Amino acid sequence: MRIDLHTHSTVSDGTGSPAQVMREAADAGLDVVALADHDSTAGWDEAQAEADALGIELVPAIEISAKDRWVSIHLLAYWPRRDDPTLVDMMEATRAARVGRAQQIVERIAADYPLTWDDVATHAHGSVTVGRPHIADALVAKGVFPSRDAVFAEVLRNGSRYYVPHYAPDVRDVIRAVRAAGGVPVFAHPGAHTRGRIVPDAVIADLASVGLAALEVDHRDHDDEARERLAALADRHGLLRTGSSDYHGTGKLNRLGENLTAPEVLEALRAQHA
Ligand code: AMP
Ligand code: FE
Ligand code: FE
Ligand code: ZN
Repeated sequence: MRIDLHTHSTVSDGTGSPAQVMREAADAGLDVVALADHDSTAGWDEAQAEADALGIELVPAIEISAKDRWVSIHLLAYWPRRDDPTLVDMMEATRAARVGRAQQIVERIAADYPLTWDDVATHAHGSVTVGRPHIADALVAKGVFPSRDAVFAEVLRNGSRYYVPHYAPDVRDVIRAVRAAGGVPVFAHPGAHTRGRIVPDAVIADLASVGLAALEVDHRDHDDEARERLAALADRHGLLRTGSSDYHGTGKLNRLGENLTAPEVLEALRAQHA
């Protein structure tokens, strides 16, 4: 069984449609794949239809933007009820905030590079959740940078002078909302320190007591040392350990199935899905 519990489509900042991601998942030999677009469930139906046709299992998921004080956290939610009013409102507020924030980032970048909001809007067209990758795509299309990665390294990384954060709910509120919606909350790439600040171990202990189910231990952004530390932390606090690719299509180097989740972990997560 090959299980990859974290991928993105054009609904957020991936480059393939939900159906395309499912076809690529089948081609990569995956048996189970989660579509986890940022702050949206809009890709679920298309993905489900294609997964059914291909004979693979779709785990419907969301990567919900959250915060612990000023530290940005991504929380994966598996099988939540998509019509849960609290979750729906939370995601709507974040998506709205992301638009104003992206416009502010573009204003700052426009002082130094040839870029307009229209350029970015063209690249975000069709996505319900706007993110920095869409700004990167606009700069790549204009020939200013060769790749998304290059734009992030130079302009879009956290802490750059062009960076603006966006509103996101407190991670404890998100964990409780996901549980109340029958979903299973998992901390995405908790040790990805090259992307920005990460939370200390004590926060993960606290989140375990609030209802967190697992840590995404095996992820491209974690080196061996980070994986060992997170695995020990998971064991200490009774958390499961997942692994996934965080596939974004051609937007990032991440390949489908490059990190996998064990079948017994998937079943343990499924058992927690109310
Ligand atoms: P945002 O959600 O707007 O804050 O942007 C964060 C997203 O940018 C992440 O979900 C990744 O998809 C993407 N990202 C972060 N770092 C990089 C990078 N170095 N290269 C390409 N994409 C990145
Ligand atoms: Fe992303
Ligand atoms: Fe993420
Ligand atoms: Zn992701």
